[in-house]
Amino acid sequence: MACVVLVSLAQPLRAQGLPELGDSSGSLISPQMERKIGEQAMQEIRLRDPHFLDDPELTDYVNNIGRRIVSASAEGRQDFEFFVIRDNTINAFAMPGGFVGVHTGLLLAAQTESELAGVLAHEVAHVTQHHIARLIGKQEQMSIPTLAAIIIGLLAARSSPDLAQAVIVGAGATGIQSQLNYTRDFEREADRIGFQFLQQAGFDVTGMGSFFGRMQRATRLYENNAPSYLRTHPLTTERIADMQNRAQTAAYKQAPDSLEFHLVRAKLRAEEGAPREAVAYFSGLVREHRYADEAGARYGLASALTRAGDFPQAKSEIETVRKLVRGVQPMVELLTARIRRASGDTAGAQEVLRAALLQAPNYRPLHYAYVEALQDSRQHQAALAWLAELVKSYPRDEHLYSMQAKSFDASGKRLLQHQALAEVYFLRGTLPAAIEQLQLAQKSGDGDFYQLSAVEARLKALRALQSEESKRR
Ligand SMILES: [Zn+2]
Repeated sequence: MACVVLVSLAQPLRAQGLPELGDSSGSLISPQMERKIGEQAMQEIRLRDPHFLDDPELTDYVNNIGRRIVSASAEGRQDFEFFVIRDNTINAFAMPGGFVGVHTGLLLAAQTESELAGVLAHEVAHVTQHHIARLIGKQEQMSIPTLAAIIIGLLAARSSPDLAQAVIVGAGATGIQSQLNYTRDFEREADRIGFQFLQQAGFDVTGMGSFFGRMQRATRLYENNAPSYLRTHPLTTERIADMQNRAQTAAYKQAPDSLEFHLVRAKLRAEEGAPREAVAYFSGLVREHRYADEAGARYGLASALTRAGDFPQAKSEIETVRKLVRGVQPMVELLTARIRRASGDTAGAQEVLRAALLQAPNYRPLHYAYVEALQDSRQHQAALAWLAELVKSYPRDEHLYSMQAKSFDASGKRLLQHQALAEVYFLRGTLPAAIEQLQLAQKSGDGDFYQLSAVEARLKALRALQSEESKRR
């Protein structure tokens, strides 16, 4: 719609057909190939990166913000996945195919939700403009695993994960300077297109420039001391000026921060350092009213108190938060349940979660917590019944299968346990391990005819997939 027009007006490049910037030698890799490279890199990160933060509440939040931005883009239907990396540097990075990593340092450093959205919009633009594909487009003789390995290599050098490095590694020793010129163009383009996404999504567009400006002032922009986001996104002074100019000519739009923005930041902050220090930090904020949002500060205090094992105080604090927020806020209910569970009140935790699920039936972190609470009290049949329904709605959610495996194990159902584990490995992209689990399921000796047939059919399908993949390499 309007966005398509904006993109084609703003772009010196054709929006369709995707020519390379000043490059005529090679063709681009296809969007399908991009997605495959991104998926493979994502699987590697999930499996091997100890900094990958598997926190369903944080993941849900960054995906909500990300989705708002993506739906404002011309490629609104592209399947984006946002994920969180536990790293104190202020950074975010995009991989081909729509995988965007967000550092916890960025979540904590952003002072408004629009600032965070500004950085994400820039990364989304790198994806929608196929920048990485353009950079590696000439390497078409490389296989998907090799290209994924290049991406991973960049991320391993976490201090500098953005595009500039993608170029250097991708290009080899020659032609680095000319490639770097491309990345400067890419950065400008990502700023310009990202700005449009930000505006369309209804965020405050001054956020982008003010955030970068603050980082620049804080660090004086000296190469090695600059936050990695600036180091990996060259031409900062000029970029900030551009952003500020664009923001000045745009109509001012107020975009208040969501409650979740404050809760997510408080959750992260409460997990930092020693529990007692975290309690002292949030107590100070609450006592001196030094907060942008009272519910957020008190939520942080309740969370820190829980870590410190002070459940009575935590309970009283979270009850105050529940009164402050209007209606049912899933993150607040989850912490309420967590406190009850930690203090040994499993039935109370279940009750809170059941009530919250009635109000927010699509919020998956509530489902995970509910199943865990059932498992805590050895209600494995109830847990399995709940999971069976969930799997129908979310067949690609590995959490669900891994919780199933746990309850099958506890119920002595070996075939079903291995079958569920096979799906976990399958979704993680480790086919050989998935096949091994199905073979173990076959040998388990406790399945009926129908269960064995299902295992056999799945085994056949995965073996076919495996031979197809080995042909492609
Ligand atoms: Zn960039």
